[in-house]
Amino acid sequence: MVELQEVHKEFGHNHVLRGVNLEVPAGSVCVMLGPSGSGKSTALRCINQLEEITAGRIYVDGELMGYREVSHGEEVRLQKLHPRLVAQQRARIGMVFQRFNLFPHFTALQNVVEAQVQVLKRSRSEATERARHLLDRVGLADRMDHYPAQLSGGQQQRVAIARALAMDPDLMLFDEPTSALDPELVGEVLAVMKDLASSGMTMIVVTHEVGFAREVADQVVFMADGVIVEQGPAQQVIDAPREQRTRDFLSKVL
Ligand code: ATP
Ligand code: MG
Repeated sequence: MVELQEVHKEFGHNHVLRGVNLEVPAGSVCVMLGPSGSGKSTALRCINQLEEITAGRIYVDGELMGYREVSHGEEVRLQKLHPRLVAQQRARIGMVFQRFNLFPHFTALQNVVEAQVQVLKRSRSEATERARHLLDRVGLADRMDHYPAQLSGGQQQRVAIARALAMDPDLMLFDEPTSALDPELVGEVLAVMKDLASSGMTMIVVTHEVGFAREVADQVVFMADGVIVEQGPAQQVIDAPREQRTRDFLSKVL
């Protein structure tokens, strides 16, 4: 499970996250909505420790991310973790971006194999077996030897998902995974994500695909100006929003 407690993030004078509190139970799917600049990507990047938070705490599976607690008498202070330990924590979190960032000179299969060998130190044969299995799972059994340039955007994004899954993450973060795709390719990527959700993966998904949110999300959060304005099941947040800001936003994306 993921827990954000009073998380703040400032970039210089730009106070982007202003006390974000969020709980995502293990095996559940949280969809995050919100206007451009509201801090959605920053929130994901903080969970994944691509950004250092300014204040607050983030827990993944009960483990404090990026810090350890040190007692000084009554007082508990936070001490930064060694970069090696941070890297270990990060390895348990998979992230899929809007742009697929595949290595252009590697085939689909090599793209899914490489990090397993480099980061997890798996043998090449074990990594290859795992990669074949995952590419099959995302519907690309017949595209394994293609290079990214020979694949559609939807296929490249499915390779990116397989690559993230190859690291055996406990948590998957998706940052607008379908917004760079042609409309006819969106469905195949959402189908893979839906399949992943039903397999019990814990997921946080930034997307404006409201249909996906209605069908798959256990919880929808609406973010604006660096705080969570409204949260609850899709039937509430999307279909009967309580807050005016949520209504204004939805009237633009629906
Ligand atoms: P979008 O829907 O457009 O993707 P978002 O909700 O994901 O928006 P963020 O990308 O999190 O928004 O950006 C929130 C704010 O943080 C913006 O004002 C942005 O300029 C600022 N910001 C994000 N990353 C950085 C950075 N690395 N350095 C400085 N400012 C940043
Ligand atoms: Mg963003």
